[in-house]
Amino acid sequence: MRVASFALLFWGVLLCGCSRQGVGKGGESSTPRPGHGARHRPARTGTERLGYTISANEELSHLQIELCPRGFRIEQLVAPSDGAQRLLSASKIHTPEGDYTCRAESVELPTLREDECLSYGVDLAERAPDPTALRRVARDLLASPDLWLWVPSPLPEGVQIRARFALPNGVQALVPWTRTGDEWLIPESAFNWKSAGAFSRAPSQRLAIDGVDLQFAPLNAPSFANARAVEAWLVEGARTSSLLFGGFPVPRALVIAVPRDHSGPSFGMALRGGGPAVVILLDQNAGERDLAADWTATHEFLHLGIPRLPAEDAWLFEGLATYYTEVLRARAGLISPEEAYQRLLDGFERGRNNGGGRTLREDSARMHERRAYFRVYWAGAALAFLTDVEARRGHGVGLDEALNAFAHCCAASELNWSAAGVLAHLDRTMGAARFQNLANTWLSSADFPALATTFRALGLSPGAHGKASFKVAPESGLRDAIMAHPERR
Ligand SMILES: [Zn+2]
Repeated sequence: MRVASFALLFWGVLLCGCSRQGVGKGGESSTPRPGHGARHRPARTGTERLGYTISANEELSHLQIELCPRGFRIEQLVAPSDGAQRLLSASKIHTPEGDYTCRAESVELPTLREDECLSYGVDLAERAPDPTALRRVARDLLASPDLWLWVPSPLPEGVQIRARFALPNGVQALVPWTRTGDEWLIPESAFNWKSAGAFSRAPSQRLAIDGVDLQFAPLNAPSFANARAVEAWLVEGARTSSLLFGGFPVPRALVIAVPRDHSGPSFGMALRGGGPAVVILLDQNAGERDLAADWTATHEFLHLGIPRLPAEDAWLFEGLATYYTEVLRARAGLISPEEAYQRLLDGFERGRNNGGGRTLREDSARMHERRAYFRVYWAGAALAFLTDVEARRGHGVGLDEALNAFAHCCAASELNWSAAGVLAHLDRTMGAARFQNLANTWLSSADFPALATTFRALGLSPGAHGKASFKVAPESGLRDAIMAHPERR
């Protein structure tokens, strides 16, 4: 907890908490961005285009961006995130009709005509409070498009959005968008959801995962003392999370590793804006032993198995990732089944002890503000565990299979999902309202989900001094099956 408290203070409210002992570190970012993103209007011809040309100076301290519409006019330009306006060079937007001063989160451009371009500059500081947004790392730069990709509004429905980069020699743009030759296609989710991005002087690498385009970009790569071990750890995390989905849950993802010059737990964040990405801040001196004990990679890759959910549904996306982080590491043989159960029992206990008398729904909705991480992550994990057990008792389709089917259908979805939609999908696959019923009961309760009866049936108990004990019980076979490798059951 000492580490977690320090990290939370250091990084502010965006952190999901981090500790080697229990609560999820990092998470999935669902930071709402009210007022950002584009409104839409019907397309006039269906052939409207929007093109960004992004150039950078040698120091990567300044981006110059030209924005050209085709078939429509830019009426308003909106900051891509809270605070992005402060980085706008001289607070100015340049147009052929003159400069506009932008001192707020958006600027009206009444004189701009159809097909007329505009341009603006962005001055990138050393770092931002959000550790996954902006950080200078030697001569490389973590710089989320949330800071520099200003958004025209309204946009014609279905407008094709493309980008080109004009960067100093040797500098690569690292963005989760789709590359086609010299251009990138930008999905509109880049305007609506938090996203990852960086500029690096080293080429990115392809991680060796079958059938997946998993692009790995370590910033200031030489600073990683054990680069091979870091790469192997990411591959192991990707393979471990793949055990649940029968393969990596999305066809393509960007992984950015940011070295830190002090030891301590790593911190990760799964992001969905513009495409799936994971940003991991990692001790640059981490060796094989440190990495073997570090579950961040598995946890963040697990987040990519369900589509982006709103922040208030943290109990579900963090609960599933937290539960399966332990379960899958046992199935992969990285930890023993006993250790996985021990970690689950410890986590449940921490979650139970961190309730503040509010319902899980309330704590989930205001998790960051209330720092209700233990409670939300572990209550969600308890609900996943109870659903898993109930489905196994029913001898029908289990939670594993339901999540696998859901990932195949919807992991890469760019629609606005909610927990209710995900639960309905999972329950449909399982053939009963298992997860929904449990969620309905416990989301409205200030108590931690009741586990004692299930523990007894499984022959599992916290034991003396919190050390898990395992007994033969009517359902101890089910207990063991949860942690067994899919091919060894
Ligand atoms: Zn998480």
